[in-house]
Amino acid sequence: METFSTDIYKIWSESKNIIISTHTNPDGDAVGAVLALAMTVKIIGAEPIILIENYSEKFDFIKGKEYIYDGDNYDEIKPDVFIAVDCGSKDRLGMAEAVFDRANSTFNIDHHVSNDNFAQNNIVLGGDSSSCEVVYKIIKNFCILNKDIAEALYTGIVTDTFGFKYNSTSKKTMEIGGSLIEFGINPSEVQDKVLYEHTTVEVEAFRRALNNLKFDGDIAYTYLSYDEIKECGVSNGDLDGIVEYILNIKGMSISVFVYGKKDGRTKISLRSKKIDVNKIASTFGGGGHLLAAGAIFDGSVEEALNIVLNEIKKS
Ligand code: 5GP
Ligand code: MN
Repeated sequence: METFSTDIYKIWSESKNIIISTHTNPDGDAVGAVLALAMTVKIIGAEPIILIENYSEKFDFIKGKEYIYDGDNYDEIKPDVFIAVDCGSKDRLGMAEAVFDRANSTFNIDHHVSNDNFAQNNIVLGGDSSSCEVVYKIIKNFCILNKDIAEALYTGIVTDTFGFKYNSTSKKTMEIGGSLIEFGINPSEVQDKVLYEHTTVEVEAFRRALNNLKFDGDIAYTYLSYDEIKECGVSNGDLDGIVEYILNIKGMSISVFVYGKKDGRTKISLRSKKIDVNKIASTFGGGGHLLAAGAIFDGSVEEALNIVLNEIKKS
């Protein structure tokens, strides 16, 4: 890692502009990682440009937003270096994929086991809790972190480990968490903002999802149609948490949450306590981790639910 970071430092610090991007519908790990990387890139003397979809207001407290591209024409961006972070495959970059294709030097920093090593330089640590953990391991070798970077990284780790709870939390993850706290961030406040505070809109979506909840053996599943999503005014980021919540119902070992998207396709989220849901998601062109995965299904909510439940039962 040490030698690796020296190479990274050389390429990044000698670049003019560095595009930093992540997957569509970004979560706290994605948002924390891009903002932390942008602040780092600035410190080492390059110009960061973040390409990211609108994200949930719960992450508004994270610093570095001034580096987010505010234009409306990605064609005008002339990328020198492109860093994709928390993104398992190139197509998950969404609109930024075309910019990636034009970059001279590309980096893929991630922790998804399903990552297909799509860049010239791939730093994929599948056992790590979060992309923010991977980012920390890289940047600490050549950048003196500050409170803002620490808070961004802490947010990502807390999001993806659910407050250092999931099995992906290692001794190292906790040590990194400890080092980040030393910069003076308020760990309890970050956890409240990211994991516990909910808007009334989120709660309304939750209420409806619980209303649609069904059980099939040890599978808990539910859905929201696109109409329901429109009625309660939620955006994608507001729906995180539903699939985890229903997995925690006693006796359940798999949970499925699907919702209708504006384009007529269906978003699938899978969580598990035992079976490999990454494998199931990959049969629909998706991916993720052993116990948490997702995909976009080209069909209705009803079709998606039927086909996913069948795949789970076959596995
Ligand atoms: P979620 O269900 O919260 O959207 O995603 C769970 C995990 O699966 C996350 O690590 C996420 O990055 C990954 N994931 C979700 N949707 C997709 C997808 O369409 N393709 C891939 N490759 N991974 C996904
Ligand atoms: Mn992640």
